[in-house]
Amino acid sequence: MKVAIMGAMVEEIEPLLEFFGTYETTELAGNKYYTTEYKGLELVIAYSKIGKVFASLTASTMIQHFGAEKLLFSGVAGAINPQLQIGDLIAATALCQHDLDITAFGHPYGFVPEGSVFIDSDKSLLAIAKEVAGEMDKSLLEGVIATGDQFVADEARKDWIGETFKADALEMEGASVAVVCDALDVPFFILRAISDSADMDAGFSFEEFLQSSAKESAAFVTKMLDRLA
Ligand code: SAH
Repeated sequence: MKVAIMGAMVEEIEPLLEFFGTYETTELAGNKYYTTEYKGLELVIAYSKIGKVFASLTASTMIQHFGAEKLLFSGVAGAINPQLQIGDLIAATALCQHDLDITAFGHPYGFVPEGSVFIDSDKSLLAIAKEVAGEMDKSLLEGVIATGDQFVADEARKDWIGETFKADALEMEGASVAVVCDALDVPFFILRAISDSADMDAGFSFEEFLQSSAKESAAFVTKMLDRLA
């Protein structure tokens, strides 16, 4: 089976590349794709660059060019749910785009015709994640992740996103990856470790905890591969 593992930033995939050790590199459309084998799985690993457009391009390339049959995203996010502390893990049950707005035409936030506000994650990958969390004795929150082309460092914006979408965390890529995987019928799983609380200190917190939180997320995803193998 071919499995894609993607991040948005180099820091999010570095721990994975270190873990797998050897890989081949292919350059395509301004990104590097790393391919390797792990316990009989064929892996393609890449970071997209930040934001929904780059993330869509990378997810689509991993599926349509490299033939990925499942996609796992590993990265960091800002917390909305106060239960989530720095380094805590959240797996998306569903994702939405908080900055998608054609409400002027009477549609709800996050909706475009022929689309849907929320896209559900694959249930069997979520079940595997639960098992892995148990095995690692790690707490894993399952909840809604809201995505937008905006680093949120503002309490009011964060609260609005939390209330409007009942979201537990926010970031800048997940929902676009979900749209691509859903359209191409590829099961996906979006995992994030908290780097900040999307408040006025978010920028500082993000810089301080990006690497350690990205490692937490990557370590969890590699354990999921053991179950997929
Ligand atoms: N430090 C980077 C910019 C990081 S943007 C630079 O200057 O190059 C934030 C990244 O982490 C995005 O990929 C996003 O998915 C995630 N993220 C973490 N906290 C976030 C927050 N509070 N708001 C939005 N995205 C956040």
